[in-house]
Amino acid sequence: MRSGNRLHGVEWSHNVAKSASGSWGGRYLSTCQNLDYQLSGIQINSILRANEQVVLIPEFDGRGLSAVRKFESNQLAANKPNEDRRSAASCLQTKGMLFGVFDGHGGCACAQAVSERLLYYIAVAIMPQRILEELERCMEQGRPVPPILQWYKHHGDVNFRESAALYVDHLRVFWQELLDSEDHGDGMSQRDALDYAFRRLDTDISLEAQVPLYTDLMKTTAIQVAFSGSTACVAHVGVDGIHVANAGDCRAVLGVQEQDSSWSALPLSRDQNSENPAELERVRAQHPSSERDTVIQDDRLLGVLMPLRAFGDVRFKWSQELQQSVLDSLESRVDLESLNLYRYTPPNFLTPPYLDVAPDVTYHKLRPQDRFLILGSDGLWDELGNEKAVQLVGEHMSGFRLQAPLSPSERQLSLGEMQELLRKRKERAAPALDSNAATHLIRHALGTGDYGDLCQERLGSMLALPEDLARMYRDDITATVVYLNSDLAKHHN
Ligand code: MG
Repeated sequence: MRSGNRLHGVEWSHNVAKSASGSWGGRYLSTCQNLDYQLSGIQINSILRANEQVVLIPEFDGRGLSAVRKFESNQLAANKPNEDRRSAASCLQTKGMLFGVFDGHGGCACAQAVSERLLYYIAVAIMPQRILEELERCMEQGRPVPPILQWYKHHGDVNFRESAALYVDHLRVFWQELLDSEDHGDGMSQRDALDYAFRRLDTDISLEAQVPLYTDLMKTTAIQVAFSGSTACVAHVGVDGIHVANAGDCRAVLGVQEQDSSWSALPLSRDQNSENPAELERVRAQHPSSERDTVIQDDRLLGVLMPLRAFGDVRFKWSQELQQSVLDSLESRVDLESLNLYRYTPPNFLTPPYLDVAPDVTYHKLRPQDRFLILGSDGLWDELGNEKAVQLVGEHMSGFRLQAPLSPSERQLSLGEMQELLRKRKERAAPALDSNAATHLIRHALGTGDYGDLCQERLGSMLALPEDLARMYRDDITATVVYLNSDLAKHHN
């Protein structure tokens, strides 16, 4: 991301610009030096660790082997409220795990709804006909529906409680349609399910904003969800490999440990923004040549939006007439001003839709050297390159292993090998600051000084910025680190 806010034209974004390298650079330092805010180490840690999550996954849970050993996640807000969301759940059908990172803009409503709903759409699309029939029978007979996902929630995660019944109704309509289709049979492949679920959920978001709903609260939520937007990057991690579906500029990067123990990064997604030439061409090709110079302006869609694919954002998808009629129909029931919708029409809005959510889906077969997967919102990748992030997590991982008690195999080391181990331990004697690798990433993302060192003062200034200033100097950051079960890959290979 190249400037403060993803939506252009909001109060401050026009006068804050990042350098081409993506960092806030000297502007940040000079401004921070003038700020008199400083935090103690304890205060810094308590802010950085407030949203930490760590979940250990049993290697074998009685049903099957897990490709994931553990995951660690964290979020740090710049917006208030945070517009990033994250999701993690086991898919009970595939026995794999689903991880999502969602970066909202124009409010958090769309990211919130997508983080609650998308994994269900994916799991349902994968389910074979006979399981869907069972779900439908349970609904008809008023029996409890068998679980579809096992969620791993952070205590700070929230839900749109007032819309829960609506979301279940529409998920049910989705599986009923799958049941009615001739060829659902054994369920969709993971690739097709990811692709279809993204598009299907976005269609539901669009329709829910157009149809009458039971309560005004439900309706205003549906409008807020549809008029705000969210990018999404979702990974399904199974014993057979990793599928990543990406729409927008969140990113999935694999941490690979080479034979010489060094670390390298393998991106499993490509950012869909104006820095991606193929993406620019894709967007331009969808509109008449007369719009070639206006579809993307200032590196933004119609000069407004940074990501080139997203959920919601009906301002870029619906005709102006439809937008107006939906808002008009609402005007008598609710105070539209209170919804904080971005209602203006983008310039050169001639041949909508300009935006869709169809994701790119990639597949990577797990190899023994694949050690972890990092999912991050652009707030993370703005500050850290892929290689740097992988190196940080890799070293963090090795550092912890070196500090752990001797394993049974290490107890049998020769004297020379033991000396080498002790030497490495000594090198790493400085205690790691964070046990959670996602926190380790966020700490370095915000606290790395000009010489690549971790600078406590810089971190303190960054975290002490008052609410109205924080968003000018950093974005919301979400990081999830998924540790892979490499032994499994060895076995498979
Ligand atoms: Mg962001």
